[in-house]
Amino acid sequence: MAQEPRREDGGEPQDDCLFCKIVAGQIPATLVRETDTVVAFRDINPQAPTHILVIPKLHYPDAASLAAAEPGVLADVLREAGEVAGEEKLDSYRIVFNTGSGAGQTVFHAHAHLLGGRGLQWPPG
Ligand code: 5GP
Ligand code: ZN
Repeated sequence: MAQEPRREDGGEPQDDCLFCKIVAGQIPATLVRETDTVVAFRDINPQAPTHILVIPKLHYPDAASLAAAEPGVLADVLREAGEVAGEEKLDSYRIVFNTGSGAGQTVFHAHAHLLGGRGLQWPPG
């Protein structure tokens, strides 16, 4: 049976969340796109020539919880990632949602990594 979402999963800004602070303009970032629901900005530690984070303005801890609560906003994230890929002239790219610390998630505000501009190996590491 589905659990009720925890309060901190309810989309409210979190005081201790880096990406909520970027959404609020309290921490600077190199923005590349912004809509009513989504912000895209360059990763501070790029792993590819193009490495852009596309995030919902609402705080959810990971992509699946965002999808469960706000499926339209997750679709916005993916559509904007595609728009950014077009602006960056990427014909091949990868969209990654690390989920859980064992998979490398360090910021617990849902975000898509858009990676491109170099060859991308499969399977990923
Ligand atoms: P995760 O490891 O959670 O999947 O991804 C978090 C990403 O956020 C990392 O790729 C990391 O480089 C990036 N990041 C961490 N702090 C900042 C910051 O202050 N500004 C920007 N632009 N990116 C950040
Ligand atoms: Zn947040």
